[in-house]
Amino acid sequence: MSENGFNRRGFLRAAGAGTALASVLGAGASAAHAAPAPAPAGTAGSGSGGRAVCDWLGTSGWRVRIGSAQLLVDPYITRFPTGLFQEGEEFDSKTSLTVDAATVDRIAGDPGVVLVTHSHWDHFGDVPHIATTTGARVVGTATTCNLALAMDVPTSKVSPVKGGEVLDFGDYTVEVVGSLHSRNPNYSMAFPGVRLERPATRPATIADLPEGDTLAFQVTVGNGPSLFFMGASDFVERNLEGLAPDVAMLAAPSTTRTHEYVPRLMEALDKPRKVVLVHWDNFEVPLENPPKPDTTMAFTPQELADAVRAVSPQTEVVIPEYLTSYTFR
Ligand SMILES: [Zn+2]
Ligand SMILES: [Zn+2]
Repeated sequence: MSENGFNRRGFLRAAGAGTALASVLGAGASAAHAAPAPAPAGTAGSGSGGRAVCDWLGTSGWRVRIGSAQLLVDPYITRFPTGLFQEGEEFDSKTSLTVDAATVDRIAGDPGVVLVTHSHWDHFGDVPHIATTTGARVVGTATTCNLALAMDVPTSKVSPVKGGEVLDFGDYTVEVVGSLHSRNPNYSMAFPGVRLERPATRPATIADLPEGDTLAFQVTVGNGPSLFFMGASDFVERNLEGLAPDVAMLAAPSTTRTHEYVPRLMEALDKPRKVVLVHWDNFEVPLENPPKPDTTMAFTPQELADAVRAVSPQTEVVIPEYLTSYTFR
């Protein structure tokens, strides 16, 4: 409780940002419903139309369509219970990994690429199933790739990255950014550690999927916007220098352990014109709107939106709904 009070004071450095609320909400809605702009002339060679259409999959998950290409970021669709969100229950680190294949297949579509920020179950749990059934390429840390290999993803379909790579997928590029995992109240995280070799046995429980270091990704559409995707709420400030994305998917912090999270992040990203808040929802209930907030977090999504606007009043903040298309150009 006291954390919230402390945090609000730390976050809300500027006053008077509230007047932007109505226009920000309007702008958020218009992201989904704006009339399509004609593709600029002379952009032949890129079938992207200069835009990315993004559907939120809950947590930090996205289905992104760029022209005829489709990619996924941290798709976690199964959303099985672990005790994290259930009243009167304890978190069970031995919870079995399961996949709701019918739901995953329906929502995941046919991606060419799956970007994985880190290998915790709520980011990676559905990825081996998606990769093995669609043939999608998995891009992630060495740990993510080793876990994928142990879960039957073929070697030719795993692409280990560290941060600094700029991968060219034709209609879009992916710049990999070395990043950091969120802090829990003990300044730590669940299941720390790495897998530097392919595990001898197939991961079976959520504890078998360690964090494995954390990445962020900047996806840049040919003749279109750049979108920064986070999967966890910490970052290496110096690694963000010069990225200046048009749109940033910002992960909500669950605690106050990271100093001045929103102000430092917004400054490091050069105050993107649009911010979409992610990983603030209860990810152990089905993907049905309205999303249920994770009530154990230090901030509500609305408080985070206010914190973003306090640093950057001109930024449009979107609190997304599930499986709703947001078009960025
Ligand atoms: Zn995590
Ligand atoms: Zn997570």
